[in-house]
Amino acid sequence: MSGRAKILAAINKNKQPKATIAYKEKNSIDVFGENVFSMSAMKKRLPKDIYKSLKDTVENFSQLNDAVADVVASAMKDWAIEKGATHYAHVFFPLTGATAEKHDSFLVPDISGNAIAEFSGNTLIQGEPDASSFPSGGLRQTFEARGYTAWDVTSPAYIMESPNGATLCIPTAFVSWKGEALDKKTPILRSMQALNIQAQRILKLFGDDSGKIVSSTCGAEQEYFLIDKCFLSARPDIQAAGRTLFGAAAPKGQQFDDHYFGAITDRVLAFMFEVERELYRLGIPVKTRHNEVAPGQYEVAPVFETSNLATDHQQLTMVTLKKIAKKHGMECLLHEKPFAGVNGSGKHCNYSFGNASQGNLLDPGDTPHENAQFLVFCAAIIRGVHKYAKVLRAVVASAGNDHRLGANEAPPAIISIFLGEQLADVFEQVKKGGATSSKEAGIMAIGVDALPDLPKDAGDRNRTSPFAFTGNRFEFRAVGSDQSVSGPLVAMNTIFTDSINYVATELENATAGDPSKLNEAVQNLLKKIMDEHGSVIFNGDNYTDEWQEEASKRGLPNLKTTPEALPALIDDDVIELFNKYNVLSMEEMNSRYETYLEQYILKVKVEARTVVEMANTIIYPSAVRYQTELADSCLKMKELDVDCDASALKNTAGLIKELKAGIEALEALMAHEEEDALEEAKKCCKKILPAMLKVRETADKLEGVVADDLWALPTYQEMLFIR
Ligand code: ADP
Ligand code: MG
Repeated sequence: MSGRAKILAAINKNKQPKATIAYKEKNSIDVFGENVFSMSAMKKRLPKDIYKSLKDTVENFSQLNDAVADVVASAMKDWAIEKGATHYAHVFFPLTGATAEKHDSFLVPDISGNAIAEFSGNTLIQGEPDASSFPSGGLRQTFEARGYTAWDVTSPAYIMESPNGATLCIPTAFVSWKGEALDKKTPILRSMQALNIQAQRILKLFGDDSGKIVSSTCGAEQEYFLIDKCFLSARPDIQAAGRTLFGAAAPKGQQFDDHYFGAITDRVLAFMFEVERELYRLGIPVKTRHNEVAPGQYEVAPVFETSNLATDHQQLTMVTLKKIAKKHGMECLLHEKPFAGVNGSGKHCNYSFGNASQGNLLDPGDTPHENAQFLVFCAAIIRGVHKYAKVLRAVVASAGNDHRLGANEAPPAIISIFLGEQLADVFEQVKKGGATSSKEAGIMAIGVDALPDLPKDAGDRNRTSPFAFTGNRFEFRAVGSDQSVSGPLVAMNTIFTDSINYVATELENATAGDPSKLNEAVQNLLKKIMDEHGSVIFNGDNYTDEWQEEASKRGLPNLKTTPEALPALIDDDVIELFNKYNVLSMEEMNSRYETYLEQYILKVKVEARTVVEMANTIIYPSAVRYQTELADSCLKMKELDVDCDASALKNTAGLIKELKAGIEALEALMAHEEEDALEEAKKCCKKILPAMLKVRETADKLEGVVADDLWALPTYQEMLFIR
């Protein structure tokens, strides 16, 4: 039996859905948050004053003092030990996009030869993982490699269980000894603070001086693929790169749209239930699940949370999907494009901001007064997206996402805004100046009077726009399925902070403390923003060639690949922007740029090496064996004086030659390295990737001719449809 046949046999034995939770004994909803040291758990276990002080830190970003930390640490330890924990881990999020953790035991030996459990405020607040191997983009030399993890009080600690023990996990920021951010969490926290400061000014202008913190919110829809785990052993490409580097299209792909929202099979559903239960226990409010467009593709989406929490939870969601899939004999693929020819996976990042006194600030609301405030925020967003489109593009740039952006399944690399018909119409009217000042000097007639009531529901939905208004939030759709939402959220927070600062300053100057002037000031400002930035609005089909042309006429950037997109991170205006609001310094921006460039190069090169190896050791041998079979048959036929049509042999021989030539060309490209990282990245993009594709094209042709029993690689048909 061939290796591939063995795999198929193994899968068929293993396909039964696994019952892993006693859901009738305990309803999944009842386990929500049971593994989280949440505010309510703290309230129960902490002295009143300590709890109050901690709550203030969480809600108002106030400083945490050492005495509080000691008490919290002790309560947290007791709670964790009751849950079976023996270890604690500072969890942090390095620039690789991964989740990193260093575990330490609570155990401390005492003089009598016994051991006690110990956990001080200091160990809770600060850790020093060696962690010098994480990329820092030049921020840390090895001789000063200290990196510190610092407890993020705003994200609760939780218990991670494994079959043989449990660990108390503490979400932390990861910084260098000089305090420079080495991670994805630090800038999130900084950007949320910056946004709050500016948003307060707008709220004040509109009469809300409650001072309630404005936080950005995020609900990220995660798309992913599931394949049977057995396939992995015969697909080095999926193991090394998370995607297929070879494979002819299956005869049936997604043409029938029969997978989208289709009935979920028992095996997959069993997996989903367990994922959700695990996430519930961690206090992660996942809500929606369904089949996606491609065969074997699914989606899970949570109820939105504040950006910081949503980012941590999103990261945990990815970890949990991968972990539970294995338990069910499957592999969860988070790569943006695991299979050519069918849809890739994205992570729509729903975004808004709000506070405790008004709720969601991007909800148009029912009254003109709310409408006007909403329109001001909306205009700030329009300005921000237009002004810093290149930043939004840069933060979604990755080797994986390059396969998606611009293919006709995901928004193009051009960043534009979709407002929906009705909202677009409102802004069109603003632009025409149809709504100048309103003379009825009512007490607070701040509504933009000449405008129609705003729709509660966006009505139509444009699925092709990278940045779409969807009724009460914006949806940033260009984010890749494997990416942390941190980059996009930091970018949005910072860009909109800047725009809100601009808008607030304009309105403050125009009104000079006189609320009766606000109405006119708003109208003038909206018109000005539309005149200067309205060209970023596009409500048509973003997948068409006409849009590419139109966008270029409008001067909107179209940065198609990662090496084209990333340099925006170190443009002067961008560095100034992030620096101005204390989100990331010039050094930190440089470090990010260098790290992401490096990541891109590394990813492409791992793929290239995998292509060479698989072509040489898997595909070439299969093809040669088949060639020999054909040649033997021809020889025998000739011996027997039977006419032999050698066309199949000639075709195969030709393809084998082509394959070898392709491999050699790719190897030649890989043999030398450009000194400059950006040049090397460009080479990866413009030369290595096309050379890999050339090898693949030949290999995929061979897949179509070589005898099936000689073909060693599991096919698309098998991987996508056998679950
Ligand atoms: P759709 O597929 O129509 O986009 P989903 O229900 O799959 O809708 O996802 C919508 C996502 O938007 C959910 O994660 C939801 O929590 C999130 N969302 C809703 N309101 C907000 C908000 N104010 N801020 C951020 N995210 C939000
Ligand atoms: Mg969506």
